[in-house]
Amino acid sequence: MMLGLLLARAGVDVLVLEKHADFLRDFRGDTIHPSTLEIVHELGALDELLALPHQHVAELTAQIGDVTLPIADFRRLPVRCGFIAFMPQWDFLDFLARQGRRHPGFDLRMRAEVTGLLERDGRVTGVRATTPAGPLDVQADLVVAADGRHSLVRDRAGLPVETFGAPMDVLWFRLPRAAGDPAATMGRFDTGRIFIMLNRGDAWQCGFVIAKGTLDALRARGLDAFRREVARLAPFAAGRVGEVRGWDDVKLLTVRVDRLRRWHRPGLLCIGDAAHAMSPVGGVGINLAIQDAVAAANLLAVPLAERRLTPDDLHRVQRRREWPTRVTQRVQILVQRRVIAAVLGGRQPLRPPRLLRLLGAFPLLRRLAGRLVGLGVRPEHVRSPARSP
Ligand SMILES: Cc1cc2nc3c(=O)[nH]c(=O)nc-3n(C[C@H](O)[C@H](O)[C@H](O)COP(=O)(O)OP(=O)(O)OC[C@H]3O[C@@H](n4cnc5c(N)ncnc54)[C@H](O)[C@@H]3O)c2cc1C
Repeated sequence: MMLGLLLARAGVDVLVLEKHADFLRDFRGDTIHPSTLEIVHELGALDELLALPHQHVAELTAQIGDVTLPIADFRRLPVRCGFIAFMPQWDFLDFLARQGRRHPGFDLRMRAEVTGLLERDGRVTGVRATTPAGPLDVQADLVVAADGRHSLVRDRAGLPVETFGAPMDVLWFRLPRAAGDPAATMGRFDTGRIFIMLNRGDAWQCGFVIAKGTLDALRARGLDAFRREVARLAPFAAGRVGEVRGWDDVKLLTVRVDRLRRWHRPGLLCIGDAAHAMSPVGGVGINLAIQDAVAAANLLAVPLAERRLTPDDLHRVQRRREWPTRVTQRVQILVQRRVIAAVLGGRQPLRPPRLLRLLGAFPLLRRLAGRLVGLGVRPEHVRSPARSP
């Protein structure tokens, strides 16, 4: 959506295809990072975005056993907004769609599911999709796969992928919020458990992290045992755990970390999770996907508008974004091994892992963590032209 908006703003005709009828998915992360807020500012739409309901989080904390530690500080970042805005992602996507529609070249088609690629002489020339009105073939100078970590497009394109593994999956469910509940989004680490609660106004969106492959064992212990576990992790919501009425209310989100060796083929570019599936660690995947979109627009808007796009242009996008992706994934994998796997495998009462104790003790390290999470490595700025009327 971000790339569609930026290209349409630069005078390129864009068609965004989304398979769902709306963006009301619960599984989306809700974080809009300082770097993304800076990009929205560069597009002149920051006040409009911040007028939508959201929470400011200037410092991230983690509760480990009975100890609460600050772990990342965004307040001194060299950007306009020294905080993460927590906003349901459907509001953010609707906002981007509204921004896009201000440009005549922008078209968003909902309930349009890409099912395959159109190819000629080894070059991708478009996509095939199903829509309520029947099959749709779209010819395009460039197809951009931004279809997430289960990307069908990258699969069909046969691009080679490197997989790094992840020790966990996440169970995703809702609990009602009540007057007197804390307002803040929370992360809690306890013996063998990690539990996240996102404030969604009238409900808590809960993430219950489990070791990969342990869902069947958890289900075998029964729903009541699961509810008791949730009540232990969020005592203030103990009276509401019965709202999880069955396993159908609990969705499994599989976590994967991987990266394409080559992000492009003639006529096709992958960005975001389609190019590099991100772990939820640090909540930075959306950030990286947006940065990819901005970099792609910076490098491709003019060649696309002038219809002189070459494979070298596509390779430049990979060259620009591969290093920040590698660094971020390396840190995520380190945290997965040193913190997540250790907590999930632990049987003893939990002490904060050394990495978190260091963050808790040293403000400078917290600012560094804030920089890595809030701005990322090699932050992008909007350089693509604003040519649309
Ligand atoms: C459990 C979990 C929690 C996470 N929490 C956070 C967080 O808090 N903060 C954060 O920054 N990151 C988080 N992440 C990572 C983050 O979700 C991703 O890195 C990010 O969403 C990638 O964005 P994207 O636009 O590339 O893909 P996605 O957000 O996955 O978007 C892909 C879009 O393509 C559509 N689509 C898919 N297939 C097709 C098709 N065939 N045709 C048409 N449309 C299609 C989908 O419906 C979707 O709208 C989390 C990941 C997991 C697994």
